[in-house]
Amino acid sequence: MDFDLSDEQKMLKETAYKFAVAEFTPVSMECDRNETYTPEIRKKAAEYGLVGAWIPEEYGGSGVGILGNALIMEEFSKVDMGIALNVVAAGFGSESIFQFGSEEQKKTYLPAICSGRMVFSGAFTEPNAGTDVAGYRTRAVKDGNDYVINGSKMFITNGTVCDFMVAQCITNPEEKKHESYSLIIVPATAKGVSRNKIKGKMGIRTSDTAEIAFEEVRVPRTNLVGVEGRGFKQLMHFFDTTRVMVGAQGLGLSEACLGASVRYARERTAFGAPLSSFQLTQKKLTEMAVMIEALRGLVYKSAWLIDVGRPDYQLAAMAKYLSGQTAVFCANAAVEIHGGYGYIEEYPVQKWYRDAKILELYEGTKEAEIMTIGRAL
Ligand SMILES: Cc1cc2nc3c(=O)[nH]c(=O)nc-3n(C[C@H](O)[C@H](O)[C@H](O)COP(=O)(O)OP(=O)(O)OC[C@H]3O[C@@H](n4cnc5c(N)ncnc54)[C@H](O)[C@@H]3O)c2cc1C
Repeated sequence: MDFDLSDEQKMLKETAYKFAVAEFTPVSMECDRNETYTPEIRKKAAEYGLVGAWIPEEYGGSGVGILGNALIMEEFSKVDMGIALNVVAAGFGSESIFQFGSEEQKKTYLPAICSGRMVFSGAFTEPNAGTDVAGYRTRAVKDGNDYVINGSKMFITNGTVCDFMVAQCITNPEEKKHESYSLIIVPATAKGVSRNKIKGKMGIRTSDTAEIAFEEVRVPRTNLVGVEGRGFKQLMHFFDTTRVMVGAQGLGLSEACLGASVRYARERTAFGAPLSSFQLTQKKLTEMAVMIEALRGLVYKSAWLIDVGRPDYQLAAMAKYLSGQTAVFCANAAVEIHGGYGYIEEYPVQKWYRDAKILELYEGTKEAEIMTIGRAL
C-alpha cells in the first residue's frame, strides 16, 4: 500500500495552486461581489492543460485521471471555489459522453472542452424535482430523425455560458420510471432554448448558475448519449465521478480555512497571549485537521478507485458527504477564530463560510448522500 502521490501528481498540485494564486486571487473578491463569471481564466487554464485534465490525451486532455483532476480541484478551491468550478467543471456533463457516447461525439466535444473552445453543462435538476432524480418531467419526443424537447431545468451550473448541455429527458414514458430517461446533447443556441442567470446566490457567486427552458427544441437523434432508456443509470455513474470532485472542492476550501486560522491564531493576541496558546482554539484547529485528513483519504481513494476501473458509488457518496460536513465545520471555525474580523470582507473566511454551504446541497444534498450510503448498508 502506498499513500504517496507520485512526483507528477505533486508537480500538478503545485502548478494548479500557483495558477490559482496568480489568476484567481487578484479578481476573487470583486467577482464574488459582482457575481462575475471569468471566461478568460478558464481559457488560460486550458493553455496549461488544467481544463478537462482527466480526459485521456487521445481526446485532447492531459490524461491525469480523476485523481489528478481532484488534485487540481483541491488546489483551485483553496483560493476560490466558484472560479475552481468554472475551470474544472467547464466540461460538466461530458463525463457521460466519455463513458457512454459514440466515438464521433467524443471526438467532437472532448478536445474542444480541453482547449477552452467549448463549455458544457449538465442539465438534470428541474424546478419541481432535484433530489427526486426520477421525478424529472422534461420530455423528448421522437419526430423523424429528430427529438423535440419541451420542459425546464433549474440551477444549472454554466447555464448561461455553455455551448452545449447534456440534458436528462423522458424519451420512453411507457417504460418504468427508471427506464424512461435518456441523456441528450442540446446546443445552447438551439431555437427554443432560453436561459436566465440566477442572481443573488449566497456563495460560489463567481460561478454561473441558470434556469433553462426548452420550448419545441429540435435536436438530431444522433445527439442521444449511449442507449435510449439508460439515462437514469448513466446519471448514477456520472455522480460516481462528480461527487468525488465535490469532495475535492470541500477538501481545498477546508485546508484554506485551517491555514488561515493557524496563521491568525499565532498572530492575534488576547489576555497577553496568542490565541493559539488557548486550548479552546487548539481544539477547533485539531478538529479541523482531523476532519481534513479523513476527507483527504476518502477523496483520494474514491478518485483512485475510478482510475483503476473500480468506481465505488458508496465511497464517492461518503467523500461528498464528509466534504460538506468538513467544509461547513471548518469555515465556521475559521470565522470564529477570526472573531469580528472573520465577519468582514477584508478577510476571505467570510466568503469561504458562504461558499461552503453549497457542498451540502448540490450533486445530491447531504440527506441524499445519507440515503445512498444508508440504503447500501
Ligand atoms: C449553485 C447551484 C448549482 C447547481 N448546479 C447544478 C447543475 O449544474 N446541474 C443540475 O442538474 N443541478 C444543479 N444544482 C441543483 C442541485 O443539485 C439541487 O438543488 C439539489 O439536488 C437539491 O434539489 P432541490 O433543490 O430540488 O431540493 P429538494 O429535492 O426539493 O430537497 C429539499 C430538501 O428536502 C430534502 N429531501 C428531499 N427528499 C428527501 C427524502 N426522501 N428524505 C429526506 N429528505 C429529503 C433534501 O435533502 C433537502 O434538504 C445546483 C444547485 C445550486 C444551488
